[in-house]
Amino acid sequence: MRSAPSYDNADLRRLDVAHHLPPQQDWALQKNSGGSRIIVKGEDSTIWDAEGNAILDAMAGLWCVQVGYGRREMAEAAFAQMSELPFYNSFFRTAAPPTIALASRIAGLLGGSLQHVFFNNSGSEAVDTLVRTARYYWQARGEPQRSVIIGRKNGYHGSTIGGVSMGGMVSMHNQGGPWVPDHEHVMQPYSFEEQRPDEDEDMFAERAARAIEDKLLEVGPERVAMIFGEPVQGAGGVIIPPRGYWSRVEEIARKYGVLLGCDEVICGYGRLGEWFGFQHFGVKPDLVSMAKGLSSGYLPISATAMADHVVETIREANAPFVHGYTYSGHPTSAAVALANIDIIEREGLVDRTKNDTGPYLAKALQSLADHPLVGEVRSLGLLGAIEIVSEKGTSSRFGNKPGLAGAMIRDACIERGLMLRAVKDTLVMSPPLVITHDEIDRIAMIVRESLDACEPALR
Ligand code: PLP
Repeated sequence: MRSAPSYDNADLRRLDVAHHLPPQQDWALQKNSGGSRIIVKGEDSTIWDAEGNAILDAMAGLWCVQVGYGRREMAEAAFAQMSELPFYNSFFRTAAPPTIALASRIAGLLGGSLQHVFFNNSGSEAVDTLVRTARYYWQARGEPQRSVIIGRKNGYHGSTIGGVSMGGMVSMHNQGGPWVPDHEHVMQPYSFEEQRPDEDEDMFAERAARAIEDKLLEVGPERVAMIFGEPVQGAGGVIIPPRGYWSRVEEIARKYGVLLGCDEVICGYGRLGEWFGFQHFGVKPDLVSMAKGLSSGYLPISATAMADHVVETIREANAPFVHGYTYSGHPTSAAVALANIDIIEREGLVDRTKNDTGPYLAKALQSLADHPLVGEVRSLGLLGAIEIVSEKGTSSRFGNKPGLAGAMIRDACIERGLMLRAVKDTLVMSPPLVITHDEIDRIAMIVRESLDACEPALR
């Protein structure tokens, strides 16, 4: 077998600045800091940079490496499929074996009426497909005026024009519009910032769900195609909705006869202790987007799952759905995704997240709750968040610059060998599903050390 090519680190950083434009980044900062940190290796939950530093990856890459790094079985699955048939398209009534096998496997995990799977390459594309499907479905039912999609502010659904339009990220909407019309965004169920002192959890859940119903009535129910959201908002800051929120949202969707869509790009594949987030919250969406954990990020692949009634309606229209990507159902990516699901099942990683590592992470994060800089800790399965505040017992932030404290503490963690992210002043984490108790202890220890180290500079 060939080994991975090696490069000179200083050269790479120079070439990075000269030629490589990294996603979702400040390119001036990239240049001024002398280029990206070069990551060269991964094993289980640890990555190594080119300078030899080992870093515990509490982000699982980008919320995706469920089975951890360095799995030979995944490489072998890719090798075997590439040797047999690296690629063939699924456009002209052809399909490769792993593509069909994966669709059927995913349908089994989804259960219920979600029995149909359309493949894409990225989460953003899965979301684009989902929107096109929802709108086409209503056209096929003779209600083409139903084009409005209701999502949440601060929801993240990707970076394509469609994904940004669906998402509710103000910073993204501020760059490069106008966006696709008929996307509405309502309040997010973010209790730490938005729950009022006179509200209990049930009242807050009701108000946040009601915001969807109010918007639906404002727009006109006959114009609404779908209500759409992440079961737990990931990139927005691991926003775990209050108890009862999702059942109320489902009730609203059913009351007005609109579709319900779940973006499972982060929550899917065991992250919340069930195969999918909607299973944790006990709702039944009509459309589901998924990516990331589907292949643990080893190769790009995403999927959009559709309920029986959606597909039956589209089939009855008796016309091709003119939508698809060259690499929809890429056989090699599909073979790797199948190997990934094999590992998750064989090692019981979903159950382990629910009954072992998830509760263990929750306890470890709780141990940080007494720190003067910590306003709240929360987690569900292996998704966790720590709110940084300037005054204990409040949700006030440091200085006039939201994100300053979060970025400082995140950088202190990385310096100490722990990779996590800061969403403004919320530290977020999403470790591989193979994370061990010792590693979770290390996360808590490094976060505490970093909080202690940053506190004097912040005060
Ligand atoms: N949807 C959600 C919930 C996501 O978290 C992401 C990415 O983080 C996307 C969609 C977009 O996925 P991708 O970056 O693969 O296009």
